[in-house]
Amino acid sequence: MNSPNPTASAGQRPSTTLDQAIQSDALDCVMCGICVPHCPTFSLTHNEADGPRGRISLLLGISQGELTPDADVSRHLDTCLTCRACETVCPSGVAYGRLIDNGRTRLAQEPAPAARPRGEARFWRLLRDQLLTRRRRLGMAWQMYRVMQRLGLGGMARRLAGPMGRALPRQLTHAGPAQASTQEMASPRGRVGLFMGCTGAAMNAPAVAAARAVITAFGYQPVIPGGQGCCGAMHAHSGEPEAAARQRQRNAAAFKAAGVDEVIVVGTACSAELAALPASHGLTIREITEWLLARDHTEWPEIARLDYRVAVHTPCSQRNHLRQPEATRQLLACIPGLELLEIDGNTRCCGAAGMHVLLYPEQAERLRDPKLASIKQLAPDVVVSANVGCASHLAAGAKLVVKQPVELLAESILAAKR
Ligand code: SF4
Ligand code: SF4
Repeated sequence: MNSPNPTASAGQRPSTTLDQAIQSDALDCVMCGICVPHCPTFSLTHNEADGPRGRISLLLGISQGELTPDADVSRHLDTCLTCRACETVCPSGVAYGRLIDNGRTRLAQEPAPAARPRGEARFWRLLRDQLLTRRRRLGMAWQMYRVMQRLGLGGMARRLAGPMGRALPRQLTHAGPAQASTQEMASPRGRVGLFMGCTGAAMNAPAVAAARAVITAFGYQPVIPGGQGCCGAMHAHSGEPEAAARQRQRNAAAFKAAGVDEVIVVGTACSAELAALPASHGLTIREITEWLLARDHTEWPEIARLDYRVAVHTPCSQRNHLRQPEATRQLLACIPGLELLEIDGNTRCCGAAGMHVLLYPEQAERLRDPKLASIKQLAPDVVVSANVGCASHLAAGAKLVVKQPVELLAESILAAKR
């Protein structure tokens, strides 16, 4: 892939290299339209420009200098969820994910602010760079929300939190009692890095705690280097590929310095982003579900039966980016007693899509509505999603218990010890 010119900035003609990269990918499209009915945003508006084929045409026009992006054109492109459902069905192998990321980078260089991606506005960049990608700050804000929720002031907190309030879960889950020891294990099977992510001290804290406990129960020493940070996904999909690459490099350096070659990530979106690290780093990146499925049966600890009805949500990052659509079901099938339920329209994006849920909340909620209706009908004990963004988005729309698959496994292991 050609990389964009890092010196290009707003007000300059965007680099030829970036335009060429866009054209190269866009010209792979034969405009057959097979992808169009699979596109969630097209399903909302039935406007060709809100589907993959239309967006590819727009990007081709922009990159060839035949179309000057304005607010309308930019919105059609920027409301793409980067879910990549179109990519998985495309018979021509169009690299749509790369194309739309390059497209947002191209728009970010436009002189007119209205033509740039919404996430590039000062307010959103500040929110992203000063809070959302800062684990400690986000963790503190999350703790404040928890306290207010406990005091019965959750509704007020959501109203006061401005654009973030709509995205906050209504029912909070707690870290389970399965806490791993922080001490070095005497003779572990191996040492593995554990990636915390920006939400590891906030909404993803219960899943990270469960992952630590499960990794330990499988006989491995989890290593959590302090120098790790954001995976870079929010930058990568907002038109800032260099910032995303720096985040990936920072994480690679932190884990290599800690002496681990394998990094376990709790969440499919972060895992997909870190997987973009070049092989030269010598790091294997695995989402916790995938890592657990790769364990030999001799490594499995004793597990107990859990009699839950579980509605399984499959994130686009798990289905379309990592191409592991069955991973969550396969892991949960290992726990006796669970009844796995299918949410209608599970192959379609729930609307969370990283910062999209904040940038375009109406679209995000329209995409979520049918899933919540299906979940309501299923009336499960718990909803499971392998991505924290999707889990939070679902839990923001209804009083639901939404967990990651590893949390159920941790509960099952703990129950077996009692
Ligand atoms: S990535 Fe998703 S939202 Fe974007 S064009 Fe493809 S199917 Fe539609
Ligand atoms: S399926 Fe592929 S080739 Fe056909 S319109 Fe969609 S992106 Fe283009």
